[in-house]
Amino acid sequence: MLDYHLHLWPHSQTEAETTVEQVSAYCARAAAAGVTEIAVTEHLFRFTQAKDLLGGFWDDCPGDALRPGMSAYWDHHARVDLDDYVEVVQAVKAEGLPVVLGLEVDFYQGRMDQVARLLADYPFDVLLGSVHWLGAWRFDVLDEPKTLAEWDVRRIDQVWEEYTRAMEELAASGACDVLAHPDLVKIAGRVPAVPDEFYDRITEAAARSGMAAELSSAGWRKPFGEEYPAPPLLARFVDRGVPLTTASDAHALPDVADRVDDLRDLLVRAGVPRLQGYRERRPYPVPVTSAGGVRS
Ligand SMILES: [Zn+2]
Ligand SMILES: [Zn+2]
Repeated sequence: MLDYHLHLWPHSQTEAETTVEQVSAYCARAAAAGVTEIAVTEHLFRFTQAKDLLGGFWDDCPGDALRPGMSAYWDHHARVDLDDYVEVVQAVKAEGLPVVLGLEVDFYQGRMDQVARLLADYPFDVLLGSVHWLGAWRFDVLDEPKTLAEWDVRRIDQVWEEYTRAMEELAASGACDVLAHPDLVKIAGRVPAVPDEFYDRITEAAARSGMAAELSSAGWRKPFGEEYPAPPLLARFVDRGVPLTTASDAHALPDVADRVDDLRDLLVRAGVPRLQGYRERRPYPVPVTSAGGVRS
């Protein structure tokens, strides 16, 4: 099993430092839970290099009311040096611990080429692609009145349409390897009566691009209490042969490898014998049932 989606710092923390001790502790906790390899995948927007490249992208987005919130979010988060992060994770990997270097990358409409050029300068093993925002709207932030209020003014079908289009463009960009929390748009508990078209399109986008999709326990820690992706979307991925990773999306040590046994049960029930790991952005198979760092 894998835990291929891990953050080092909670969102509440602004200044942050990457340390060998913390990455090593993540490895130890994951190994104790039967995870054979982890990927540290901090948000790209944590890093000053991202702010230099992408800061202000929200000025081109519709929605005057939402831009200040996005600007403040970047001010709060984008304070860490990407080179330090890369160096520390690589050092832990060089010690032989079962960790690979990753990053969680947001979709930036029309700018994924620039993002890919920035990231090409670093030795990443795996890049997660995520849609957390539609324009300047951080739709997954449910504790801020302005972002939450948007859910009441927009039609659900329209939100899912926009989200799905962003996922399609993200996949087509080829900038990333794994679609993270593929149906994150359900986060507020608002799901169209018939979401099939959206599930079909997300599956098609993954299959066409050759990306893997993530099976994540993080949804079980949200109010709606369902894994990502929903069962009908997971079934489509499996039918279409989209490779899978498993993930906790932990933002602190206690959630590392969260409910990995439950994720394994879902995979076994779905008839999935192997996951997909990555080294230097090249995939390799990882048996679902193995433990102890076996690579095949
Ligand atoms: Zn995410
Ligand atoms: Zn994440």
